[in-house]
Amino acid sequence: MALSKRYVDDLFKQIYKGKIGPKNLPQPLYMFVVEELQNNIEPEFIATGSELSEAMQINLNLFASAKVFQQIRETISIIPGDNGKIPFKEFEKKAQAIHDRYNGAWLKTEETTVTLQSQNCMQWQTFESNKENLKYLQYQTSDDDRVSDLCKPLDNVIRRVDDPFWNNHSPMRHYRCRCYLIQIKNGVETPDSLIDKMPEPNAVFKNNIGKTGIVFDKSHPYFDIPKQYIELAKKNFNLPIVK
Ligand SMILES: [Zn+2]
Repeated sequence: MALSKRYVDDLFKQIYKGKIGPKNLPQPLYMFVVEELQNNIEPEFIATGSELSEAMQINLNLFASAKVFQQIRETISIIPGDNGKIPFKEFEKKAQAIHDRYNGAWLKTEETTVTLQSQNCMQWQTFESNKENLKYLQYQTSDDDRVSDLCKPLDNVIRRVDDPFWNNHSPMRHYRCRCYLIQIKNGVETPDSLIDKMPEPNAVFKNNIGKTGIVFDKSHPYFDIPKQYIELAKKNFNLPIVK
């Protein structure tokens, strides 16, 4: 489902008039974002019906409502002008630019993240079920010149499947991270002295997707909700939970 231009134009009018606001988020925009994100979960992963796939779906709902909240909040912040309100034409232009940023480039990146993380999550389950025979995981960067400096030092790091190291350092470690893990039978573990020097991942990815199902954790800027809206945020801003 795509958003029609008519809907978006009307949305801007409603925001300008004060009919749509942080306490009254636009449900169609929210539904659009949730569906776009959820459609990018690996179908095979949803089919497992596991607690992790459930957790991921919930996470994407909360993420989508927080995203819409931030878009609306940012859009409202441009309304005040010298004489009370900026003219509607001017507002509309700026609102469109904000809308395109949230639902264009950013959404695309978020969708890719959902796909990669659902694949990583599924793969982790395989590691868990095979760990009696294949005790170790080895970190692999995608081995081209686009590898991030954040991941380069981790190339070929070996630790046991159960090592807490993987709680913070399993892929993804940053947006567009193409790194992966391979499971091996024999290996020499990378010593602690080197492990201690490994760069921290981007905060949003500082968890093991294979254990949590959380694609976007609370350190994502969308979840930076002002105090007066926290209670509402806990209720998903009164928006439905979609699965
Ligand atoms: Zn990486």
